[in-house]
Amino acid sequence: MTGAEPTPFSLEPSEDVREVRDWVHEFARDVIRPAAQEWDEREEAPWPLIQEASKIGLYSLDFFAAQWLEPTGLGIPVAFEELFWGDAGIGLSIVGTCLAAASVAATGTEEQVAEWAPQMFGTPDDVRLGAFCASEPDAGSDIGAIRTRAVYDEAKDEWVLNGAKTWVTNGGIADVHIVVASVHPELGSRGQGSFIVPPNTPGLRQGQKFKKHGIRASHTAEVVLDDVRLPGRNIIGGKDAFDERVARTREGRSAKGQAALKTFETTRPAVGAMALGVGRAAYDYALGYAREREQFGRKIGDFQAVAFKLADMKCRLDAARLMVWRAAWMARTGKDFENAEGSMAKLMASEMAVNVTEEAVQILGGNGYTRDYPVERMHRDAKIFTIFEGTSEIQRLVIARTLTNLPIR
Ligand SMILES: Cc1cc2nc3c(=O)[nH]c(=O)nc-3n(C[C@H](O)[C@H](O)[C@H](O)COP(=O)(O)OP(=O)(O)OC[C@H]3O[C@@H](n4cnc5c(N)ncnc54)[C@H](O)[C@@H]3O)c2cc1C
Repeated sequence: MTGAEPTPFSLEPSEDVREVRDWVHEFARDVIRPAAQEWDEREEAPWPLIQEASKIGLYSLDFFAAQWLEPTGLGIPVAFEELFWGDAGIGLSIVGTCLAAASVAATGTEEQVAEWAPQMFGTPDDVRLGAFCASEPDAGSDIGAIRTRAVYDEAKDEWVLNGAKTWVTNGGIADVHIVVASVHPELGSRGQGSFIVPPNTPGLRQGQKFKKHGIRASHTAEVVLDDVRLPGRNIIGGKDAFDERVARTREGRSAKGQAALKTFETTRPAVGAMALGVGRAAYDYALGYAREREQFGRKIGDFQAVAFKLADMKCRLDAARLMVWRAAWMARTGKDFENAEGSMAKLMASEMAVNVTEEAVQILGGNGYTRDYPVERMHRDAKIFTIFEGTSEIQRLVIARTLTNLPIR
């Protein structure tokens, strides 16, 4: 996203963004919210809801691409906040494909984007999913330690992939899997490429499906790759570009564009926006409750101890939103992330969501601790944001290294 015209400073979303916000909010309120508890309990991918979202054009390449290209950068954060305000597990089921699509869009060739991105979404009559598979049992934060191997079979112009991926959103139920694999293990993350595994490719199968603390409507599973053969052209960005990058690394020239890291970097403000949605949902609920619930003959919101919590929750929410919007605007207008502002936004928003949902449970007291009230689910859901797409510790590491230019460990 470079070379965009400078936009005048404004914190007022454009009319287009406001329209999208209201449209997504309506879907979140009328379709997602009423189904949230059921799918949390069922702990399975909410296909009927993804289909509903597809029917109205919300779950579609066109919609997400249009929001990604929205000139101020607010398209994605505003849409994601509303979806996750509806419910985080269902929200992630609707946007999970975007991580896989973004990895192709970020470093893929034009032909790869045109061929594979639409197949990740399918059509309202034939809804499909995408999955991005980087993490492994021994390579989570330490993505350079990936053991899945991709070996090039020159005679057949094919890649052969072997390994095991874990914690994959939509893993095994997706039609297109993007798999990060090591081609030159001695080069760490610089020897890794990302590979497009088409639907029904022999050798790819789902392993264990995880039972989770939160976002239980989102499917998370292992993906096993056993002699998976792919056409040579299925390496993202193309084999020539990959070979050139490796050659630059071997010659000691800087090698930009480590596929997996680049994908994470571009998606961080969007993950912050998801956390905003969950935090706002819990705040809204707690505010309403504090104005109704009476103890000692008064509304509990009359007690300063409760009212001050609400004041802090709202401040944290708005501060996090400003950071998410700033990072999204910087990404869209091609600004350099000189202070790791994308990581800052993700860090602040995710820790805000954990704090605000916990305070919401506290404000609801015993009711907040039961599944009869939604803040219990929101509290469980919020925790994922400090873990995936880089843990809070990793965000701090990235920010601190960027600020100090020191190799902090
Ligand atoms: C629900 C869910 C969905 C996910 N979806 C996907 C997906 O779609 N695709 C995918 O590829 N991955 C996915 N992940 C994986 C996720 O990105 C990893 O869990 C995350 O990167 C952390 O890795 P880890 O779990 O191995 O933790 P570890 O890396 O083992 O970290 C454990 C602890 O040590 C800390 N730590 C590690 N290294 C350092 C360090 N250098 N300095 C300070 N502290 C450190 C961490 O912050 C953490 O607190 C998902 C995970 C979950 C739970």
